[in-house]
Amino acid sequence: MDEYFVRQRDYLLEISRALTSQLSLNDVLRVTLRSATKMLGGKAGLVALVNGDAFRIRASYGIDPAMLDTFSPLLQEIPLTDPEGFDSPEVGRKMRLVAQTARIGIYEVIALPMKHGTELIGVVFIFRPQGNLFTSNDIRLLQSFADQAAIAVQNARLYEQVATEKRRLNALLLHSADGIMILNPDRSVESVNIALADILGLGPSCQFDKMHHDTLIRWAQREPGPELADAMAEGWPTTEQSVLYVEGELRRFCNHGETLSVGMTYAPLLDERGDLRNIIVNVRDITKFKEAERAKSTFISVISHELKTPVAIIRGYAETLSRDDVQWENGILRSGLDVIMDETEKLADLIEDLLDVSRAEAGRLKLQIADVNLCHLVEQVARRFQTQTHMHDVVVDLPPEPAVIRADERRLDRVLSNLVSNALKYSPNGGTVTLGVQPLEDGVNLYVSDEGVGIAPDQIDLIFDPFYRVDNSSTRETEGVGLGLHIVRHIVNAHGGRIAIDSELGEGTTFTIWLP
Ligand code: ATP
Ligand code: MG
Repeated sequence: MDEYFVRQRDYLLEISRALTSQLSLNDVLRVTLRSATKMLGGKAGLVALVNGDAFRIRASYGIDPAMLDTFSPLLQEIPLTDPEGFDSPEVGRKMRLVAQTARIGIYEVIALPMKHGTELIGVVFIFRPQGNLFTSNDIRLLQSFADQAAIAVQNARLYEQVATEKRRLNALLLHSADGIMILNPDRSVESVNIALADILGLGPSCQFDKMHHDTLIRWAQREPGPELADAMAEGWPTTEQSVLYVEGELRRFCNHGETLSVGMTYAPLLDERGDLRNIIVNVRDITKFKEAERAKSTFISVISHELKTPVAIIRGYAETLSRDDVQWENGILRSGLDVIMDETEKLADLIEDLLDVSRAEAGRLKLQIADVNLCHLVEQVARRFQTQTHMHDVVVDLPPEPAVIRADERRLDRVLSNLVSNALKYSPNGGTVTLGVQPLEDGVNLYVSDEGVGIAPDQIDLIFDPFYRVDNSSTRETEGVGLGLHIVRHIVNAHGGRIAIDSELGEGTTFTIWLP
């Protein structure tokens, strides 16, 4: 009898070891079921767990796996009640019948519930040879085993839940478009996602877990305010809500320390005691936002300057001419009014251009399509500009027959005017400006060529950007906002056309526009 108790104690030890080990749930159940069966002098054992709407076998001992299906109908029958409603003797009796028909040489069965709180989560069966009845001591032992196993099941489920949550969180971090980094309280790195590796200019294979925030995050320039190390030295964070925001130019680890505009948010994660557990860092590339901000301020400064100049001239002339203590000669009056008219026209043009740009950018540039005689239009524009210059010859190169296309005449006038105005402005030494029309099989080419300063090859793509002006003496000496070509491109695109540029520095430039 003593030996029986020693053995029992050994099995109990084995069970508790299995329960506290880090085995998978299946292994825990297998090991503990084997020990429990042996401990009770049984031949075989089964553990069935609630899975969905019925009990299913999760572990077996001493039963040929091929026979396990025999138990399914009975398992289906066991009602899913609370543990109080579990009828142990009845389930045991039924199992005994099943075991008999299955001829597995087992005839005494005990069935005990596994419970978690008020929830029935499974049943443990132990089988013994006939006549070897279960004592109340056996039942008590087995029930304590069932209770322990239930805890193991519950732990495994919680563990599984946590693991799923963790996988979900990892996927979220990994694939987030924003850069994300998790830091330990000493600012060493716990993990870094792909987006942040990209932002920093480091490969995803980099060993981030051996790195430190302060070596990864190197500011080339920073908006006023503390950065992480400063803030922490001053006692940050005090609460979980005290989020720290730092914005500036971050030095990257590639392209010779090229920089990137970022906004970084540091959110502290505190434990129950209020101690810092982790810092969650979100890094957002705000280059586009910064560019838009810069474009907006260029826009405002350029436009306000361009608007102020004509307005000042108009006001000056109007004030002078309206003085009633002076009697103006007719000639002076006339030329003063001409200046006012010219400047008013410039203002109207500028406003029209701005409206066109904003319409085009919103995709709402509506063309007024009609038949346009291009030769006619080109001649008109040439005549208009010839009257404005004595230094240049404005000539036309037209085909013998009229070239008529479907287009928006006022907009094409704008295109030609912008190109000719550029040709004149950027030919400070005069020369010939030619406006030409060349009918083609699939459309027509319109061209404007000059003998001016030319455009460097690396500037060609840039001159179509809004407010872009090449930095050279001829742009410094002429008026302009840098909108002309931007509008030209919008109008040509709206017509389904294309622009080509042929230019040589110091020799001249030809803009050719193909229209369908
Ligand atoms: P705006 O036309 O708005 O009054 P702008 O003439 O400076 O101002 P764009 O017409 O868009 O602006 O031209 C952009 C830049 O391209 C010019 O500043 C100039 O440097 C360059 N450019 C345009 N046309 C020529 C040309 N024919 N020859 C040389 N440079 C040119
Ligand atoms: Mg221009």
